[in-house]
Amino acid sequence: MNINIVPLPEDRQKPLFKNILDVPFGSMFTDRMFLMEYNKPEGWHSPTIKPLENLSLHPGCLVLHYGQEIFEGLKAFYGKNNKIILFRPEMNIKRFNRSAERMCMPELDENDVMEAIKNLIKLEKRWVPNQRGASLYIRPTMIASEVGLGVRASKDYLFYVILSPVGPYYKEGFNPIGLYVTKDYIRAAKGGVGEAKTGGNYAASLYAGEIAHKKGYSQVLWLDAQERKYVEEVGAMNIFFAFRNRIVTSPLTGSILGGITRDSVLKISNDLGIEAVEKQLSIDEIIRGIESGEITEIFGTGTAASISPVGHLSYNDRKYIINDGKVGPLSQKLYNFLLDLQYGEIEDKYNWLTYID
Ligand SMILES: *Cc1c(COP(=O)(O)O)cnc(C)c1O
Repeated sequence: MNINIVPLPEDRQKPLFKNILDVPFGSMFTDRMFLMEYNKPEGWHSPTIKPLENLSLHPGCLVLHYGQEIFEGLKAFYGKNNKIILFRPEMNIKRFNRSAERMCMPELDENDVMEAIKNLIKLEKRWVPNQRGASLYIRPTMIASEVGLGVRASKDYLFYVILSPVGPYYKEGFNPIGLYVTKDYIRAAKGGVGEAKTGGNYAASLYAGEIAHKKGYSQVLWLDAQERKYVEEVGAMNIFFAFRNRIVTSPLTGSILGGITRDSVLKISNDLGIEAVEKQLSIDEIIRGIESGEITEIFGTGTAASISPVGHLSYNDRKYIINDGKVGPLSQKLYNFLLDLQYGEIEDKYNWLTYID
């Protein structure tokens, strides 16, 4: 791929953050973006890295009306010896293509996407925060850019990558958050698009999210759409329940987003002497487990928040406290190990790291 690089005028360089921990998640962007276009005769063409700027879109283009959009989220870490590290980026690129297929969008060449990300980050290296717990969040996005008000798949698309230096996802940092269980609303049903990272899933979740926020909870814990019985995920994170030394997460049933952090936790647990299983759990089992003390910890997993301990949850207007509202030992152990891996501080024995030279 031959990327056209539009130079950034010296005076367009934005001032860096002073303290990344004071910057709300995803509110600050770097100086440049990657952009590439698609149409039927040419396929993907004109890959460009240029100063970050607004897109110019016709108000009738398909993404704005029917939501044909997909995205990814991955991170670059400032590792040992000033090395910039990507964590399992090939997994994000593969998932992006799976999302594209589900949303009738054109797939991308995996190597091209990797090259786009690497080249962009090389140019934006000064934006990767040199601090544990902070990183450069990478947001590849594809939108339907053809104009039309008839419901159909677009013939034209834009693919772009923007970068955002970030600290912790939740204002709580690595402190337990509260989850709100709802039976009134659902996130995704089997046969729908819950498995794809597509904008509509998040738009559909906002209403219940607002209810949760008003009641003082960070996120909604979603139940399955059919029976409203089995716990699925948290809408930006997958969810694990610890029964002492055994951690349990839902299998990928078709309505859950298959997280890369989820997959990593399942794989590293064994090596940390933790038993990890994929098994459906009903909300009743979970409530009983919390009440009996059998459930010793709950935590979410996702790129944005890495491991996010859960201190309490609300179900049927009752509040249930987990592990006295404190960070539990398994959450702490997995968090430390995952970060050690991501920042290149321990041996990369899974071969998960991609270094940007
Ligand atoms: C992105 C996302 C996750 C977490 O996936 P990771 O690959 O671990 O970042 C979980 N659930 C939903 C709905 C998501 O969009």
